[in-house]
Amino acid sequence: MTRPGEPIGPLGDVGSAEMRDALHRMADWVADYRDGLPERRIVPVVAPGEVTAGLPASMPERGEPLADILRDLDDVVMPGVVHWGHPAFLGYFGSTSNGPALLGEIAAAALNVSAMTWRTSPAATELETVVLHWIQQLIGLPDAFMGIVYDTASVAVLHALAAARELAVGDVRKDGLIGRELPVLRVYASEQAHSSLDKAMIVLGLGEANVVRIATDALYRMDIVALRAAIAADIERGRRPMAVIATAGTTTSAAVDPLREIAAVCAEQGAWMHVDAAYGGAIGALPEGRALLQGMELADSVVVNPHKWLFVPLDFSTLYTRRPAVLRQLFSLVPEYLRGDAGTAGETIDYMDYGIQLGRRFRALKAWMVLRAFGASGIASRIREHCRLALHLAALVQGEPPFVLATPVSMGIVCFRCEPAGWSDAARDRLNEAVVAAVNASGTGYLTHSVLGGRTVQRIGFGNVLTTEEHLHQVWAQVVRESRRLVLAGPITEG
Ligand code: PLP
Repeated sequence: MTRPGEPIGPLGDVGSAEMRDALHRMADWVADYRDGLPERRIVPVVAPGEVTAGLPASMPERGEPLADILRDLDDVVMPGVVHWGHPAFLGYFGSTSNGPALLGEIAAAALNVSAMTWRTSPAATELETVVLHWIQQLIGLPDAFMGIVYDTASVAVLHALAAARELAVGDVRKDGLIGRELPVLRVYASEQAHSSLDKAMIVLGLGEANVVRIATDALYRMDIVALRAAIAADIERGRRPMAVIATAGTTTSAAVDPLREIAAVCAEQGAWMHVDAAYGGAIGALPEGRALLQGMELADSVVVNPHKWLFVPLDFSTLYTRRPAVLRQLFSLVPEYLRGDAGTAGETIDYMDYGIQLGRRFRALKAWMVLRAFGASGIASRIREHCRLALHLAALVQGEPPFVLATPVSMGIVCFRCEPAGWSDAARDRLNEAVVAAVNASGTGYLTHSVLGGRTVQRIGFGNVLTTEEHLHQVWAQVVRESRRLVLAGPITEG
């Protein structure tokens, strides 16, 4: 312990020479990590608490040399890391890191500016605006939309629904919801829509019970007849349709809801239309993919996550809206100490006016580097390749009974199921879950399971720039091998 008055020094940053040396070592560390990824075990073999046990319960009293900290990065932290960037990691949407993004992250960390107003760092704001336009053009969203960067699609839908709520009942910003005579506000989304919208309803004080889940058709797209019926039933009971969330690329199977029809319903009802294109928006980068997104341009807001399929690493989510003025009216609140920094709308953009976040990372830097380094055609080619791999896998599935495709391939996602003859549906569910667990436990392949039509499916998502057909063949061979082994062992009983 230091005694009062005793110098703690040296103060300030770590020394420049130590820092430069550590940065060089870190550059090598990162490059070695990227090069060595395919050789790594994807999931760690660690017990809960094992990483914690390797770390002291309290922070050090005196500062430690960077070299020691970097050593512990290898010795204590790395053994507990799941290597999402591994080319055989085919779970979720395969969120990917890459060289240009890494450079952007390093530069952003060095600059550590806050893009809350234009004045607090003009380049951060203007680069954000430029990158937002580039992405907008890339996926074919009209200029009538204005973009805003948030961390995640979950936060984006929260803002979209806040705007919808303000339009539906007015003055929520000023008066809140409590003690007012307000109708029950309802939001409609398909059974396949992402759970982030339920969370948004919780935060907005509208209640998760007011998310109406609409049945889907055989391809897991929102059933428009069921949507109309649900809205009519609500209106009959005095409830107000506030918004419809259409999904363009559902989490499980990348299904796309009928966007045009949903837009027509929203127009009739005066309801906000939000398109969750967190994953699927990227398909607009392909001329042949644009048809899938027809109707998206009619929405009030659209979320696209470049951190899902536009090769920008976490976190980078973009909300595009035709009604930015509503967001601004809701969220612009300039505290006195920022008054001199805030500009005038129209002349400059202060992104803090369009959301709850004040301090904002210079996220655009990494996106700018990725978009420039890959180029529009490079991005399109990578997405096209992922779609090709998905179709190739679908063909492998179909050629390998008792495997069946659970639904036709959409974009880069493949859902399939092993259905041995004579097994009950429940036993098949347990089998498919067990196969996923076994492949993942091997450490050399990774996929996820999900539920479609009430049945457990295995799910592979392509999104990693490092994944090749070879990795796909390897993981598929593992799936087949584990399935055969488990089928031979006989139906798995419950528990
Ligand atoms: N929407 C869809 C369709 C998703 O699949 C996901 C996550 O997988 C989300 C929204 C939430 O994304 P985020 O993690 O950026 O909040």
